[in-house]
Amino acid sequence: MITRENLIYSASAAARILGIIYGQSRIVVREWFSVIWVWVPGHRPRFMSKAVFKHHFVERRKAAARALRVTQHIMNPTAFTVRNEDKGSTYTVQTIPTGLVCECEDYCNQVQFLGQGCCKHNYAVLNHLGFKSLSSYLNATKASTPTSVLAA
Ligand SMILES: [Zn+2]
Repeated sequence: MITRENLIYSASAAARILGIIYGQSRIVVREWFSVIWVWVPGHRPRFMSKAVFKHHFVERRKAAARALRVTQHIMNPTAFTVRNEDKGSTYTVQTIPTGLVCECEDYCNQVQFLGQGCCKHNYAVLNHLGFKSLSSYLNATKASTPTSVLAA
């Protein structure tokens, strides 16, 4: 089950970061104040940086986004259909000035637990639009709003 605690700092993420096959050993992950305590049975417990998990979280979605096919809607250019050819699944992504909205479970979990989200479908649309990251998209949309021109 996805919770606020294990969305980013999960045992499966720790296994991928450490290069361990998940399922072979029961990895214990605990969020401490500013670090993650990770214990792989048979090894000494270790601390891992939260930044490493956050980086992994983003990079994994960016990597998955590369396999997706994006089609911009003709009548509504802020809407995109993102198709996973392998699974045969499609999701609709909507661009808004404050980010991108998706209807998938990962996006909904991120919004619920992190307050904002960027799933692999969102990254596929960002790639399609020529943005390397969500922050570069947000900077561009901020720069194009009339209020920021007035504020400058
Ligand atoms: Zn999505």
